[in-house]
Amino acid sequence: MDHSTLRSQFPALAQSNDGYPLCYLDTAATSQKPQLVIDAMNHYYQHDNANVHRAAHQLSARATTQYEAVRDQLRQFINASRREEIIFTHGTTEAINMVANGLAGQIKPGALILIDTAAHHANIVPWQELAKRTGALIKPIPLTADCRLDTAAYDALLRMQPAIVALSHVSNVLGTVNPVTELVAKAKQAGAITLVDGAQAIAHMHVDVQSIDCDFYVFSGHKMYGPTGIGVLYGRYKSLDSLSPLITGGEMIKTVSFENTVFNPLPNRLEAGTPPIAEVIGLGAAIDFINDLPSAQTHNNEQALMVYLQQSLTALGDIELYGAHADNLGAVAFNLTGEHHQDVGILLDQQGIAVRCGHHCAMPLMQSLQLKGCCRASIGVYTHKADIDRFIAAMQSVKELLL
Ligand code: PLP
Repeated sequence: MDHSTLRSQFPALAQSNDGYPLCYLDTAATSQKPQLVIDAMNHYYQHDNANVHRAAHQLSARATTQYEAVRDQLRQFINASRREEIIFTHGTTEAINMVANGLAGQIKPGALILIDTAAHHANIVPWQELAKRTGALIKPIPLTADCRLDTAAYDALLRMQPAIVALSHVSNVLGTVNPVTELVAKAKQAGAITLVDGAQAIAHMHVDVQSIDCDFYVFSGHKMYGPTGIGVLYGRYKSLDSLSPLITGGEMIKTVSFENTVFNPLPNRLEAGTPPIAEVIGLGAAIDFINDLPSAQTHNNEQALMVYLQQSLTALGDIELYGAHADNLGAVAFNLTGEHHQDVGILLDQQGIAVRCGHHCAMPLMQSLQLKGCCRASIGVYTHKADIDRFIAAMQSVKELLL
């Protein structure tokens, strides 16, 4: 498939704003959706709309079959060993909350929770809440000067035998990649429970949870060309089974009486209430879309674009890049020297260029970089070299205006 055919599958990318064709460089916030995802959700609502797992009629049977088939697709997609290890959530944030809440009974006062400094707030705040409830302590894993996780400091922290290690797979701000297989192996040796936040990794690399060997791996559908409102909590069966459910009610029970309730086994035990059925079906279509991409070629294209983006920004001059490495994925963080990130973002928007500016839900990272905020340009499979060229030309005019 050539690149323009691939791009034409994303209807939102065909628009212009104020006469400027859209140049979408905010994929890390949410990706655009291919037509087949939109069609799959429409088809469900138009033909198969029914609740899952409960009714005797054909619509419900069709909805249930499609819903459960996506669990199988996901099992294969991330190489989980059992379909029961895939739990549908509303997103990464909910998934991490489910783990942090679910572990409360296992965490003792004084227990240590390690979190990487570049973590998204979704991978910080739920652990802080857990710490408040249990008397556990949070310690950040520092970064090196070039914004990589400081492995020497990490090794030293592991000697304190943490109970939990929560890591980002890919930073949503910098695009830096943590060597999670190696980091998880060390954490396991130290006896910690491990969670990897894969929200920014899942669309840009092949994820194999058995090879990472973490207890929990979480991600959101909307960052991998799927719909909003759907996410995945993968957990090793034993690890998932040890979680007490965050949400209780219908669907997750086997029997209920006023004296006693017996919960269902996994996965239902952690999926209370009516699930986001159309969104699960849309996510299934997104996985079909990704599986149909020539993966090596797509990965090489994205990697080449990342380097091109970093080099083009550097060549522009008066640019500060943060943690830029050739092996980064998806995102580049930068500032125009001396200028406020929001001013840059607004001026880019006036030329049809969509980037994100601010703290990117990573205030501790901003503090460690001594920044109030920054701009972030992020790419997806539909991004073309021409998008980068347009962005750089727009940055040149912003620079001429502001400096
Ligand atoms: N973790 C990372 C690394 C993210 O980039 C994001 C979203 O930007 C999240 C967690 C939260 O994802 P969601 O808002 O889909 O729950």
